[in-house]
Amino acid sequence: MGNQCIFCQIIEKKIPANILHEDDLVVVFSDISPQAPTHLLIVPKVHVPGLNDIAEGHSALLAHVPLVAKAHARRLGLAGTGWRLVCNCGPDAGQTVPHLHFHLLGGGPLSGRMA
Ligand code: AMP
Ligand code: ZN
Repeated sequence: MGNQCIFCQIIEKKIPANILHEDDLVVVFSDISPQAPTHLLIVPKVHVPGLNDIAEGHSALLAHVPLVAKAHARRLGLAGTGWRLVCNCGPDAGQTVPHLHFHLLGGGPLSGRMA
């Protein structure tokens, strides 16, 4: 899957992205089509297609993601004004890239309250 998947290719540095953070579990890079003044993607290094495919073995990874999001939100000055962490799963949710990822959105009022 690594050869086909655009996010795997970014993780493997085969195609460019504005990578802001990398550790053992995730990479963080700017969304190419930002939907808010701040729009980062937090992307697990392991190729998991989406939330339908997570398992107990991903627990440490899944606990790590909001901590990474919080750190970047704080770094970017969003902690006080607010931010949103979004994960789309499947076609009805509009998932377009079949590699699990989390959107960190903020920097202004976020439209389209969904929940
Ligand atoms: P989703 O629609 O939830 O699957 O989110 C996929 C996101 O990936 C979209 O917001 C796209 O703008 C973003 N995206 C797609 N290709 C790239 C890329 N090469 N670099 C950065 N972001 C990308
Ligand atoms: Zn992938």
